[in-house]
Amino acid sequence: MRKLAHGMGFRYRLHSASLPGKPDMVFPRLRKLIFVHGCFWHQHQSPKCGISRIPKSNRRYWIPKLRRNRERDIENLKALRALGWETLFVWECETGRSDRVARKLQHFLEHTAAKGKRPNSPKLPSREQSRRP
Ligand SMILES: [Zn+2]
Repeated sequence: MRKLAHGMGFRYRLHSASLPGKPDMVFPRLRKLIFVHGCFWHQHQSPKCGISRIPKSNRRYWIPKLRRNRERDIENLKALRALGWETLFVWECETGRSDRVARKLQHFLEHTAAKGKRPNSPKLPSREQSRRP
């Protein structure tokens, strides 16, 4: 992961404790963050993931615990968005496939979401078109 980003020429810092969720990699100039998440602890929601399954025993313990982890992740993500950070999650089960991770990383770091424009902003109603004389 780190070698990949470095090889692409991106400058970053490691483990910023001052940001919600303590991201693994911080790209201050791009205002982007990368989290490398363990599939089990962060409950990777992918049918392809073979690691995130909740154990069969002690479910009364694991289910609420893992749910809290996930809720915390969502809260952190919201807080980071509000601060203007773009975030990428790299999952544990993906890290074995370095070509895929490299592409994901490159896409994330080279493409910036349009600023000042929200993709789901409500469109203005076009009532003015039917102007009466
Ligand atoms: Zn996974």
